[in-house]
Amino acid sequence: MSSVIPEYYPVNGKTYSLFGKSDSTSGYYETIGMLADKILDLNPDPRYLIDYITKFSSKRKILTRSLEIKQSGNLLTDILNLIHPHLKKYTENTEEHLKTLPLSKFLDKRLATSREQYHLYMLEIELTNRLFVSEFIKADKKIALMPYCLQDFTIKCKSEKNGFDYQCRHCSAKCFQNHASTILKTHGIEPYIWMEGNMKQLAKYTIKERRSFGILGIACIPELTWGMRDCRKNNIPVVGIPLNANRCVRWFGEFFPNSIDLTELERLLIL
Ligand code: SF4
Repeated sequence: MSSVIPEYYPVNGKTYSLFGKSDSTSGYYETIGMLADKILDLNPDPRYLIDYITKFSSKRKILTRSLEIKQSGNLLTDILNLIHPHLKKYTENTEEHLKTLPLSKFLDKRLATSREQYHLYMLEIELTNRLFVSEFIKADKKIALMPYCLQDFTIKCKSEKNGFDYQCRHCSAKCFQNHASTILKTHGIEPYIWMEGNMKQLAKYTIKERRSFGILGIACIPELTWGMRDCRKNNIPVVGIPLNANRCVRWFGEFFPNSIDLTELERLLIL
């Protein structure tokens, strides 16, 4: 990796920020790791838990009601009451966003993500990483899909189409995409800025050649969760790192600089 690390300062999202009120994201990763351990104490099967969370996380009213019930004994109630107090500092802007979201925009499930859903998605990402990381690392072909919004917006990005999709040309030491690409290449993962590549077609060709295929996703929490679900449905081992906040055009109408925790990206790839 380039010796110049991009400046790592807190970023605030439209609905969430993994910095919370801190100047680092390490607290978030410690918290979500601790919560996943506790949830696995309730049920040690990560696959069951992921399917359970996937099934219930779309039921917004049930989630709100379950959080109001303090009595334990029901898995959903127990999970929500365990994670909410620890994760709410990372999703403080969600309620204000939902209050001001026009009714028509509620059709976009990502924009309409509630606070309880965010917390379940955070847990789902962590459990999915634990379930698939060793299979992902062992895959013959591994690609990473990074979002366009992680680039350095102070310069004209020099990324170019190369193979499956666009790849970083390492033009800016301040760019998180640049540093993430370098880390990924060191670990034998092809990094792409996802613009137009057909992921399903690539998976199909790779598997047809009798080679195993894995995906690492980087995206905002709702986008990453849904992408990981798609991969699981297609039996593709998937892992992911969430963007530190949601700051792109979908949320703000324009792009604001964003970041990811590069230490956590590296940690994820070392078994
Ligand atoms: S370092 Fe890479 S992603 Fe960042 S602006 Fe340059 S070419 Fe684009």
